[in-house]
Amino acid sequence: MDWLLTPGPVRLHPKALEALARPQLHHRTGPAREVFLKARGLLKEAFRTEGEVLILTGSGTLAMEALVTNLFAPGERVLVPVYGKFSERFYEIALEAGLDVHRLDLPYGRVPRPEDVARKGYRGLLLVHSETSTGALADLPALSGAFKAENPEGLVGADMVTSLLLSEVALEAFGVDAAASGSQKGLMCPPGLGFVALSPRALEGLRPRGYYLNLARELKAQREGESAWTPAINLVRAVAAVLEEVLPRLKEHLALKAWQNGLLYGVGEEKGLKGVPEVRSPAVAAFYLPKGAAYGAVKEAFARRGAVIAGGQGPLKGRIFRLSLMGAYDRYEALGAAALFREVLDEILPAS
Ligand code: PLP
Repeated sequence: MDWLLTPGPVRLHPKALEALARPQLHHRTGPAREVFLKARGLLKEAFRTEGEVLILTGSGTLAMEALVTNLFAPGERVLVPVYGKFSERFYEIALEAGLDVHRLDLPYGRVPRPEDVARKGYRGLLLVHSETSTGALADLPALSGAFKAENPEGLVGADMVTSLLLSEVALEAFGVDAAASGSQKGLMCPPGLGFVALSPRALEGLRPRGYYLNLARELKAQREGESAWTPAINLVRAVAAVLEEVLPRLKEHLALKAWQNGLLYGVGEEKGLKGVPEVRSPAVAAFYLPKGAAYGAVKEAFARRGAVIAGGQGPLKGRIFRLSLMGAYDRYEALGAAALFREVLDEILPAS
């Protein structure tokens, strides 16, 4: 068995594999429109929004950019706390989009606290829910509440790339106006689709711009079950098939994913490793490298057992390693992965 223990792309869900083996659909036909509308409806349920979810062909970063460029006009003031590689990416996208961006640096591994974002005078706040680079989970309802108390007209945009189908997500109930996600994480599908969820409030305040990434144009087409440009319809079919399977038992699925991630932390802690995040996301387990062990040696020890893992990014490069069971692993496969992890640690840690 190949162990894809990276925080995306992940081991594919059997329903995705089955859907991908089906003949090509033409995207401007009735059966394709049916698939597209079904996927959009199921994604609305997954994001728990009364608004709309748009399906874009591209990766999660594309969805983040679409969110920023279609929600905010150049020159508008936005606050971006930076506490990992992906919040750093939100900051860079907002700069590139010509916004008046105020960056708030926090140590990697921490998450913003409500008092960090309770600042007046902003049109927007951009947050990463599950910061995959550090394994940290931000408290979106508390942060949105604190920000909106100071900025009642403000909009909150969130990266939910590794929280959708992994942690509880509820757009309006969290006070989030727009969110970005992708197909290759909790949805257990291949990379290639980005999603932008828009609350009814975000739909009212949309400031569409751009050509390929113009969300007003997408909305018009997607309400009819099409997209403005040729979509990766095969992936849309895979997403619909997985959601159809997982959503009816979402509670159990989230509990399984949290238990599996806890299992990885349990093994690391039992062997004396230190976890990176102050609040743990169920999507990924991030550990500081044990004293004297280089990342290359840890990666190699996993590779010899058929497993692929991830290292650190940005300032954490060469200092941490990350493991994830967010792919299609059941309870017993997760126990196998935990045993493999224990074996690696026994090999690389000096005998005491
Ligand atoms: N945001 C988060 C939290 C992520 O984990 C990732 C990918 O790892 C991204 C954004 C970027 O997604 P993509 O690589 O699909 O562009």
